[in-house]
Amino acid sequence: MKIVRTVVELREWSRTLRTTAGPIALVPTMGALHAGHASLMRAAASAAPGRVAISIFVNPTQFGPNEDFARYPRSFEADCALAESSGAGLVFAPSVEELYPNGAATFVEVEGLSNRLDGLSRPGHFRGVATVVAKLFIAAEPDLAFFGQKDAAQVAVLRRMVCDLRLSTRLVVCPIVREPDGLALSSRNVYLSADERGQALTLSRTVRHIESLVAAGQRSASVLIREARKLFAAEPAVRVDYIELVDWSTLLPVDTATPGTLFAVAASVGNTRLIDNTILR
Ligand code: AMP
Repeated sequence: MKIVRTVVELREWSRTLRTTAGPIALVPTMGALHAGHASLMRAAASAAPGRVAISIFVNPTQFGPNEDFARYPRSFEADCALAESSGAGLVFAPSVEELYPNGAATFVEVEGLSNRLDGLSRPGHFRGVATVVAKLFIAAEPDLAFFGQKDAAQVAVLRRMVCDLRLSTRLVVCPIVREPDGLALSSRNVYLSADERGQALTLSRTVRHIESLVAAGQRSASVLIREARKLFAAEPAVRVDYIELVDWSTLLPVDTATPGTLFAVAASVGNTRLIDNTILR
């Protein structure tokens, strides 16, 4: 597996391989890789065997001033080992300066969608995400790019960006990988104390509860959200950021859950902000 630090090297790898071997797949990540990331890499490797690039870059522009950019977990050596065993052929690990050259002034903003869900509580977050993913797409020119449903609002923003910019990369969305007890895997789970780890289960428990209510025929968004709030009220140590039922493409609230509706929650446990969601059937 190759490790490169510059856009020029990434582009050369991608162009050469596409010409000689076939479509290129990209898996954008911020590192601190876990089994969720591995599932994306394996899916990418089965679609484009031998032609998977993974980026490892803690993107400063998607963090707010009081967020965890400086202390975000970094584990480059272990990440490379997991990337290699999951089928990656190349790791792109640029410096901040490589992706944001001194004086960088160009940003990609997906209007409207970027101010919903996580974008509402994290102003500028999706502008940073769209900008870095656009840079990665321009650099790697991937035919396919793999993202997790875990970040469902991010997927909506990026789908809009790909459509609006007429990019030729196809987005592939992979299911949420969970711990056996339901907690969605996240690089931020390492921040949780043992008590917080238990409290954090409120998110996945709520997601499952809403799925079962919908399966039993409950479709009213106001009823479903009220039921979700009850579960959070029972765990006061968990501070709700949002509980929403939205159309997955517009991220606008719906009155009635229909197949494809996104139920999404975000909450803080101690200093750790966690998210979870489900696409309703
Ligand atoms: P991150 O490193 O947190 O930026 O995540 C990189 C990619 O991995 C994103 O597309 C995430 O949605 C995806 N991802 C993160 N956690 C999970 C998970 N538990 N299951 C599946 N994909 C995930």
